[in-house]
Amino acid sequence: KLHNTILELKGNIRVFCRVRPILPDDGITTEVKVISYPSSIEALGRGIDVVQNGQKHSFTFDKVFMPDAKQDDVFTEISQLTQSALDGYKVCIFAYGQTGSGKTYTMMGRPGYPEQKGLIPRSLEQIFQTRQSLQPQGWRFEMQVSMLEIYNETVHDLLSTNQSPSTENGVSAKQYSIKHDANGNTHVSDLTIVDVRSAKDVAFLLDQAAESRSVGKTQMNEQSSRSHFVFTLRIFGVNESTEQQIQGVLNLIDLAGSERLSKSGSNGDRLKETQANNKSLSSLSDVIYALAKKEDHIPYRSSKLTHLLQPCLGGQSKTLMFVNVSPDPASVSESLCSLRFAARVN
Ligand code: ADP
Ligand code: MG
Repeated sequence: KLHNTILELKGNIRVFCRVRPILPDDGITTEVKVISYPSSIEALGRGIDVVQNGQKHSFTFDKVFMPDAKQDDVFTEISQLTQSALDGYKVCIFAYGQTGSGKTYTMMGRPGYPEQKGLIPRSLEQIFQTRQSLQPQGWRFEMQVSMLEIYNETVHDLLSTNQSPSTENGVSAKQYSIKHDANGNTHVSDLTIVDVRSAKDVAFLLDQAAESRSVGKTQMNEQSSRSHFVFTLRIFGVNESTEQQIQGVLNLIDLAGSERLSKSGSNGDRLKETQANNKSLSSLSDVIYALAKKEDHIPYRSSKLTHLLQPCLGGQSKTLMFVNVSPDPASVSESLCSLRFAARVN
């Protein structure tokens, strides 16, 4: 069955699929191809076929990146979108997929390999370059960064310098309540917001955030992230000759692993985590689906993630979802789940 995209209904929502290469750790000895391009010419670069138990499932997205796509190829496709934050747009880019499918690689890249930098550092470098080039036309920009994670439906500030948050029964005393003002600006109480002047400043903060992130262990991936990572850049621009003003926001979100319970061997606390994460993931899907269908009620309040991003989802804002999948035959059912999730919001 072919999932046709409903381009004309979608407005400012796009879905890109990215298949990561086979890795040595996948333990694949024979070349078993479960993921491929469809043969039809018009679907080339947009279609993806997945074979499970001899049955072929076809999907179409706005773009499909096969394993040979480089970070630079991916960035080329999204740089206009991230740049539009400088024009005053509110932008969200999500990476969705099971643990190990390449979300963090897509967003952050591979540490220590500059040519494998992900789209967060690339977007920031480009935005600061463009800022420079707009100076002769009278534009002055101020930029602010915040980084947080949402874990068990609780917000954690990743740039807080206070490393010993007062805790009571293991619960942080800070509630980080989320409010949106009439201008569509989001205020998270107590959240650290840092003025940044260069891509270097941001790189420093990203390192700081990486250190504060809670890292858990599941059977699937030692470095598995069970929380949603939200990077936010706020841009305030004023043109000194025309007095024109803009306010843009760029949100880059590395979502928690989408894997189902059975595979990650979850129990107890882990089970609660997985459910809470999946609540945010399913509510994100519900919100984007409702937006695509132009429904009257958009269920933003059903999770912390969608509540936080409310002003940046829908309206004049622009949303891009990466669905990351592994080509490993052992992951075929998880890959199908991810693709179906993405086809629903597509
Ligand atoms: P996730 O964040 O979804 O759990 P990762 O981004 O950590 O997955 O990717 C898992 C592994 O695969 C990492 O070692 C990463 O470097 C590697 N990887 C992912 N995507 C690619 C890619 N496109 N090219 C090369 N290596 C990749
Ligand atoms: Mg990751």
